[in-house]
Amino acid sequence: MPTKLEVKDCPMCGARKSLQTTVTKKPVDSVNGICFDCGYSYETNEYQLTLDEVNDERMVYGLPLIDSLRPQLRKPHGADYKEIGMCNKCGRVYADEDSVAIIKSMLKEDYAPCPIVRCVGSLEIRREKKLGA
Ligand SMILES: [Zn+2]
Ligand SMILES: [Zn+2]
Repeated sequence: MPTKLEVKDCPMCGARKSLQTTVTKKPVDSVNGICFDCGYSYETNEYQLTLDEVNDERMVYGLPLIDSLRPQLRKPHGADYKEIGMCNKCGRVYADEDSVAIIKSMLKEDYAPCPIVRCVGSLEIRREKKLGA
């Protein structure tokens, strides 16, 4: 539920009082904005990281690694999404967890070519809304 609406000048096109921002307070401050003149738009995204991703971040910040994620009291919006791998050329989808994990590790090396012969595309990770969510 929007808790605060604000109208600002758009930083992108310079239109006066055209950028409408909405601040939603729950569960964290989340902001989205849209310029009704040039179409510039932005939003705060929520994601659910995996344990491995959290530990990668912990390493970056010199924190001790953890064995499991702390249980959450509520679901972030990102939990309604599942990650799939998809080729950016032929559109082939790799939806099972093992494939997604492999594609992610390939992406860390910046090299995730599509396995389809003759396809010159590369694989990327997308977030899809879970069915029934
Ligand atoms: Zn604008
Ligand atoms: Zn492909």
